[in-house]
Amino acid sequence: MRLIIFGAPGSGKGTQAEFICKEFGIPKVSTGDMLRLIIAEGGELGAKISDILKKGELVSDDMIIRMVEKRLQDNDCKKGFLFDGFPRTLLQAKGILNSAVDIDAIIELEVADEIILERLSGRRVHIPSGRAYHVVYNPPKTSGIDDITGESLVHREDDKEETIRNRLRIYRDTIDAIRQVFTDTSKIKYLKIKADGDLYEIANTISAHLKEVVHLD
Ligand code: AMP
Repeated sequence: MRLIIFGAPGSGKGTQAEFICKEFGIPKVSTGDMLRLIIAEGGELGAKISDILKKGELVSDDMIIRMVEKRLQDNDCKKGFLFDGFPRTLLQAKGILNSAVDIDAIIELEVADEIILERLSGRRVHIPSGRAYHVVYNPPKTSGIDDITGESLVHREDDKEETIRNRLRIYRDTIDAIRQVFTDTSKIKYLKIKADGDLYEIANTISAHLKEVVHLD
């Protein structure tokens, strides 16, 4: 199963991605997580990427495409994967569409901007895994601690309001064109999911749709 999940930052994309990967036994390929790991390792490249992320800008297509190509060669991607945060530009979208990688389905989460701002201010993330929590809506068992590893959670630099607004603007500016690229081809099932309600209900809706996709194959 080769999937893509689209959603504005704070649309619940990371959380839904976790559910999908667990249910279908596929790895999450998140370009944002990969970049944060490079930053955590330190060094010159990490510092450069950190600057870009802090401003809410995008890392170059060239670097992203090279990173993704390398990741797809790993063994765990042979049975399928879920792209999270990729593709994010028209060039990346066309790149994947014209590559040998056949995408089965795309899930697009729809959430209004005001809801996103409220959600992100309370978001806490476990950096090594990308697991996301919310202090009110999806709290960890112990405040500030990841349920699985017991490691600390962080409030990401790029979850600050000014950065969020910039990231939302960039997302809205590009998603229409990217959607067009994928809906022009009938081979890929495109699922638009209203995602401002209960996160378990949303997960069930996505799961039901994806099972249909598998069944149809
Ligand atoms: P995310 O965790 O997906 O919200 O990504 C965090 C940040 O990493 C984004 O705001 C971008 O600065 C950068 N980033 C992640 N994925 C991509 C991508 N596919 N293309 C360009 N920049 C990206």
